[in-house]
Amino acid sequence: MLLKDIIGQQAVKRELCHSVQEGKIPHALLLSGSAGVGKLPLALAFAQYVACKHRTDTDACGVCPTCLQYSKLQHPDLHFAFPIVKVDKGAEVCDDYLNDFREMVRSNPYCDPDDWTMAMGAEKKQSLIYEKESSEIQRKLSLKSFADGYKVMIVWQPEKMHIACANKLLKLLEEPPEMTLFLFVSEHPEQLLPTIISRLRPLPIPRLTDEEIVEALTRQGVVSNPQQAHDVARLAGGSYSSWA
Ligand SMILES: [Zn+2]
Repeated sequence: MLLKDIIGQQAVKRELCHSVQEGKIPHALLLSGSAGVGKLPLALAFAQYVACKHRTDTDACGVCPTCLQYSKLQHPDLHFAFPIVKVDKGAEVCDDYLNDFREMVRSNPYCDPDDWTMAMGAEKKQSLIYEKESSEIQRKLSLKSFADGYKVMIVWQPEKMHIACANKLLKLLEEPPEMTLFLFVSEHPEQLLPTIISRLRPLPIPRLTDEEIVEALTRQGVVSNPQQAHDVARLAGGSYSSWA
C-alpha cells in the first residue's frame, strides 16, 4: 500500500514520513480513530515506507522487491495480530487465518471489524486475540530480520486482546528488540489497558472531510456524477467505509 493511495490524511502522512527522515521512528504507535478514516491503510503504507530502500520524501517507490512483497502483505518481516473466532478445529492463532485476512485487506484496505467476522464465517460470535497469540508475537519479533531492516507487528483491533495476552506483551512493549515497530490500530482505544496505552505513542487519525471523500469517489469511478458524490460524502460522516 502506498501513501499516495490513501484518501486524505495529508498531515498524518507528513508526520509519519518526517519521523523516518529524522531517524526518529517510534517503536510503538497507536493509530486510533473512527471506522473508515484509513487507520489500517496508513499502518500498512507506513510499514512499507519504512522498509523501502528507494523511498522518496513522500512515499515508498512501489516497484522494488520489498514494495512488491509489502503490496501482497507477504513480506517476511511484516507480521499481524488480529482477533479471531475459532471456527476451524485446531485453529487457534492468527497465522491459521492469515490467508483469509490478507485476502480481505488486499481487496479492501478500508475493511472494518464486521467485514472480518463475516470473512471468517463467524457472524455474531465474539472474536478475540487469545492469550496464545502473545507467544506468537514474541517468537516472531525475536527472529532475526529477513531483510536487514525493521520487523513490523501490526496489531489490528487491540481492544479485543484477552487481558492475559495484553499483560504478557507489556514487557515486550517496554523493551522491544532492536529495529522493531509495533503499529496498534484501534477504533476503541479507550478499551485498552492503561498500562498498554502508556507504552504507545498516540497518533489520532481524524475524520475525512467531505471534499476528500468526493475526490476519492470520483477518482475511483464509484459514482456516476458529481452531485451523487456530494450526496454520498454528506451522509458518510467522515468515513470512507460507511457509505458502502
Ligand atoms: Zn520500494
